[in-house]
Amino acid sequence: MISTQKEHLYRLMLDLVKIPSVSPSKDGENKVARFVFDTLAELPYFRRHPDDLRLIPMAGDRYERHIIFAIVRSAKQTADTVLLMGHMDVVGTDACGSLKDTAFDPEEYTRRIADIEINPEAKKDLDSGEWLFGRGVSDMKTGVATGLSILAEASRGDFDPRANLAVLYVCDEENNSGGMLAAVPVLAELQEKEGLRFLACINTEPTFAGGGQAGPSIYLGSIGKINPFFYFAGKETHVGEYYEGLCAAPIVSHLNIMLDGNPDYADMLDGTAYPPYGCMRQHDLRREYSATIMTRAVAFYSYLTARKMPGEILTELKELAMEAQKRAIEQYDQFARGYMEKNGSGAACSSWTPRVYTFGELVQKAESMLKDEVRTVLEKADASCHPGADERERAFAAIEHLADACGLQPPFGVVGFLPPWYPHRTNRGRNDKESAMRRVAEKVHEKATGDHGVDLKIRTLFEGVSDLSYCGFEGGAEEIRTVGANLPGWGTLYRFPEEDLLKLDIPILNLGPFGKDAHKNTERIHLPYSMEIYPDLLKETVVQVVRSLA
Ligand SMILES: [Zn+2]
Repeated sequence: MISTQKEHLYRLMLDLVKIPSVSPSKDGENKVARFVFDTLAELPYFRRHPDDLRLIPMAGDRYERHIIFAIVRSAKQTADTVLLMGHMDVVGTDACGSLKDTAFDPEEYTRRIADIEINPEAKKDLDSGEWLFGRGVSDMKTGVATGLSILAEASRGDFDPRANLAVLYVCDEENNSGGMLAAVPVLAELQEKEGLRFLACINTEPTFAGGGQAGPSIYLGSIGKINPFFYFAGKETHVGEYYEGLCAAPIVSHLNIMLDGNPDYADMLDGTAYPPYGCMRQHDLRREYSATIMTRAVAFYSYLTARKMPGEILTELKELAMEAQKRAIEQYDQFARGYMEKNGSGAACSSWTPRVYTFGELVQKAESMLKDEVRTVLEKADASCHPGADERERAFAAIEHLADACGLQPPFGVVGFLPPWYPHRTNRGRNDKESAMRRVAEKVHEKATGDHGVDLKIRTLFEGVSDLSYCGFEGGAEEIRTVGANLPGWGTLYRFPEEDLLKLDIPILNLGPFGKDAHKNTERIHLPYSMEIYPDLLKETVVQVVRSLA
């Protein structure tokens, strides 16, 4: 039996958690999708309407994974549909250390975690007996189990939202969100060909804030994430003739000191600052040891967005790449003069003019200089990478080969983006739909207070980055084109459904169970709220969406 009755819900959650659907994986992720499909297929409604339950292969996926779409149609014929969404994959269990092997067995894991040292807040929660620990309990199999249970109730007529109720469950969310990117064309087709009207998409990711901020929450939007890169080329020289060259190391160092964690660059929305640029990696691009100084270096970052669009960010990246070079050259000049004074012999001192190109400009330059040869250059660049090379390595190889083929004079920087890209979705009450979603959140808040004595916080943005990024797009087509033109491998290594995404304009909310420490060894879910109160509030959200938006 599937229902939101707490014992049923709890069992279903444990069954989902038991399947180690670590992303990316062919076996685990397919197993969980199959389990969800089979669970729904047993419901009499889907036996009567097999076309309303679909296991959809992800086009072009090298792990041959699937997404699930299921819809329970309302007795009154209507196009109005509320969509519940979630991801079936989880992150790995390395963080669980010696308890790694029991992480998918939450009851055992919760017993055993008492024997190891955990942070004081987690310890307090453990001692309360109200929290269940384990991989995926919070992020996000309780949310998935709840959505499935509500769908099952709707299929039996035990819950009548007076509109169609659909679920969308995807894989790969914890990796590149390939599941949701593959679902975008599916949703567009459901709108266009099957005439469904999605009133709203409610994601069921768990609450994200920790510490004093922790508590049941409903989120009006979802934060964006973009991954900028910087490539710098200095001038090679033998270390014995140091000042005849320009080392790339100080350039990338100046960049990192200026940018990493700097609140001046943090994005702002309604007076709130969101996390700053954080460096993910920096490295040189040399392949062997020699007495030549470091000539080429890269750094790449993650940046969370609440308002800034790609065009504005790209301009900022260009300015930063220019400033980093200027600072390194200024330092070079000062050091070279100092050396000459010390050395007395007057070592040669060069003068440098920094330049910056966006990746798009570099490609354009190459196309105008090399015409059809560009394709060959890019193929050679790709062939120079080892077979297991990821999108990042391939991107930097493409830049190196293009810059060499164009004979660019160092020093210079190239800036652009790396996959994946999550555009932000915000609710600023800009139109009727956004205002209606705000009202929905307020109604659910009222019910939480009135019926359950719970203070459900209404928050601006889900800060954990989510698939809600792909239910619509806040900017114009040109913003997507800006990313596309400046992201090496766009359309080949990274498939982004640019046309179909612009067809979607589905209002969003995130209402998930109350969890803590996603991705950590202390990932846990608050059982009393998540099993007893949350399902009621999620149903209320569906009802209110239909009332406000249908
Ligand atoms: Zn998640």
